Amino acid sequence: MRETEVLVVGGGPAGMVAAIEAAERGAKVVLTERDDRLGGQLIKQTHKFFGSQKQYAGSRGIDISKLLEGKLSNNSNIEILTETTVLGIYEDGVVTMEGADKHLKLKPKRTIIATGASEKFLPFANNDLPGIYGAGAVQTLMNVYGVTPGQRVLMVGAGNIGLIVSYQLMQSGVEVAAIIDAAPKIGGYLVHASKIRRAGVPILTSHTILNAYGQEFVEGAILASLDDKWQPIAGTEKDLTVDVICLAVGLSPLTELCWQAGCEMKYIPEFGGYVPRKNEFLETTVPGLYVCGDAGGVEEASAAMVEGRVAGIAAAESLGYGLNNVQALKAALKDLEELRSGPAGEKILKGLEKLLAKGETAC
Ligand SMILES: Cc1cc2nc3c(=O)[nH]c(=O)nc-3n(C[C@H](O)[C@H](O)[C@H](O)COP(=O)(O)OP(=O)(O)OC[C@H]3O[C@@H](n4cnc5c(N)ncnc54)[C@H](O)[C@@H]3O)c2cc1C
Repeated sequence: MRETEVLVVGGGPAGMVAAIEAAERGAKVVLTERDDRLGGQLIKQTHKFFGSQKQYAGSRGIDISKLLEGKLSNNSNIEILTETTVLGIYEDGVVTMEGADKHLKLKPKRTIIATGASEKFLPFANNDLPGIYGAGAVQTLMNVYGVTPGQRVLMVGAGNIGLIVSYQLMQSGVEVAAIIDAAPKIGGYLVHASKIRRAGVPILTSHTILNAYGQEFVEGAILASLDDKWQPIAGTEKDLTVDVICLAVGLSPLTELCWQAGCEMKYIPEFGGYVPRKNEFLETTVPGLYVCGDAGGVEEASAAMVEGRVAGIAAAESLGYGLNNVQALKAALKDLEELRSGPAGEKILKGLEKLLAKGETAC
């Protein structure tokens, strides 16, 4: 059994920043990551980020990840455990994890959950055929391992992830036969959609996939138009020959550890599923347990990094570390407010409103 002051679970942008902030204030931090490298979703993001200059807009995700890794390795207060999966949080505060073929036990004074999110799947006939991927998986395959998934792709989902991954497929020489979305409007940024349309790829809104077909792997998909009640319209079926179907239909927060720890949870559709209730400093209803990034509600890497700042500072402050924490917290909360002030932030603000619904106290 080992002890530490702050345990950060998850080495994506939220967890890396949380660890840096807590350690820079003097706290001893253990950062665990189940993968063999740090970075979370950033390691596959070769495109330049949008948004605020302060949150690295104009930089590529992979470069932001390297920059944060540099800061982590320069801080002697941080111990990094990669290939280490946190398995359980127990009532007595003990956290168990598996790494390097060993079962480890740690007793942290504070825990920050930054486990990110998992890709959603869609129910349709034959959705278990080889050749059906999540968009994040396709991005990992191409941008981390240099492997293209096939030759002709149907992209399901016209949000930013669907659009960005479609463009990256095209840059890799893969044909994108169509992008479809059940919604009547394209969900992603128009600048991405226009670039793709100019290259001749149709983006079909109010469309769904009815089924995939193929003997041993995907050979095609049957699509249909949807009416205003989101029901398939008979007679509008189209047969599309493709060898890959890529699903970019959203993410769900990875909150198993929050459930286990006994956090009060609430279903917030705007955040992608069940999330723990938290106060403005991201402490959940379990004292000393914080949540930041996609695990607390699916948003973006920029917001994940600012939330990491909030959770890291708040955890250090609660242990008595750091100077000017109040100003630093205020600045971080202001950055979050700015990030969420545009049209893309409306959904998040609505989710936060529900999480802190009237008549309910935050924690
Ligand atoms: C395909 C795709 C493209 C995107 N493009 C953009 C973009 O252009 N701009 C933008 O701002 N955002 C983008 N995003 C969103 C952004 O990547 C995420 O919002 C951001 O990565 C969330 O950060 P996070 O640290 O919360 O989670 P993640 O980056 O998902 O990191 C979580 C980490 O926790 C680890 N982990 C999970 N469970 C455990 C456990 N039990 N024990 C140990 N480790 C664990 C995971 O392995 C992972 O490394 C994109 C997302 C995807 C999927």
